Amino acid sequence: MYTFDYQRAADPKAAVSALAADSEAKYLAGGQSLLPTMRLRLAQPSKLIDVTRIPALKEIRADGTTLSIGAAVCHADVASHADVRRMLPALADLAAHIGDRQVRALGTIGGSLANDDPAACYPAAVLGLGATVVTDRRRISAEDFFVGMYETALAPDELIVAVEFPLAERAAYEKFRNPASHFALVGVFVAKQANGVRVAVTGAAPSVFRMPELERALSADFSPAAARTVTVSADGLNTDLHASAEYRAHLIPILAARAVERAKG
Ligand SMILES: Cc1cc2nc3c(=O)[nH]c(=O)nc-3n(C[C@H](O)[C@H](O)[C@H](O)COP(=O)(O)OP(=O)(O)OC[C@H]3O[C@@H](n4cnc5c(N)ncnc54)[C@H](O)[C@@H]3O)c2cc1C
Repeated sequence: MYTFDYQRAADPKAAVSALAADSEAKYLAGGQSLLPTMRLRLAQPSKLIDVTRIPALKEIRADGTTLSIGAAVCHADVASHADVRRMLPALADLAAHIGDRQVRALGTIGGSLANDDPAACYPAAVLGLGATVVTDRRRISAEDFFVGMYETALAPDELIVAVEFPLAERAAYEKFRNPASHFALVGVFVAKQANGVRVAVTGAAPSVFRMPELERALSADFSPAAARTVTVSADGLNTDLHASAEYRAHLIPILAARAVERAKG
């Protein structure tokens, strides 16, 4: 490690002004992505502004149609929260299968979304449910939030405050996980909502994306068999040491079918 300053922010305004005052500073949440990149010298921030003690970022709030999760809520708390388990069990289940116990105790939903790792799980739920990312200055729809590999619509000093999830009649997330990290080699989130079916895929391409062919098939017939009729092209999908683009394409309808089979309301 090298030297850097550390500041604990008391509220969103203090966090944003601390970052605006130092262009080399970065927000620190669970540190599960940022600290490894600092150890590897891929990032060398002058200052870390800890956002995990800001009360507004730690709240989980529910009303009849929406579940709002604060950006600094860790995965373990999403997984175990009574309202999340009751209102969006697919999201609680997704959080329960991120990484290992330490990652779930420290990693946060806001950190995961800001980092936008192409193999991360939360982006699939955010895009699959059509959620809204709420920042200190605006509301960003899921469609506009994910821009590319490790790239989002956030301005350099913009702070994610919460994520608002609309509920689903039925939803589930299935991933074919990397056995070492538990990141998604491919992950598919399926949501049946009042206005149709949404399917979002993570792990397969530079960034999370929707799959219109599967959405059409499942809107006509929300069954595992309908998902299996869809053939996915490997064009534009990732090939790396873990899997070829063809293998990832092959997995997408299989995981979608499993998700439909398990989808709960
Ligand atoms: C061994 C291991 C296994 C993992 N397995 C999985 C997995 O199976 N699935 C999965 O999805 N993820 C996995 N992860 C990632 C983990 O989920 C973390 O949540 C994620 O790395 C980032 O969250 P964090 O809170 O640690 O953010 P940090 O590392 O603290 O920050 C990440 C980035 O987000 C920025 N940031 C943080 N909070 C905010 C905010 N509120 N607003 C704006 N910017 C912010 C930071 O400045 C930084 O650039 C794994 C990580 C590890 C180390």
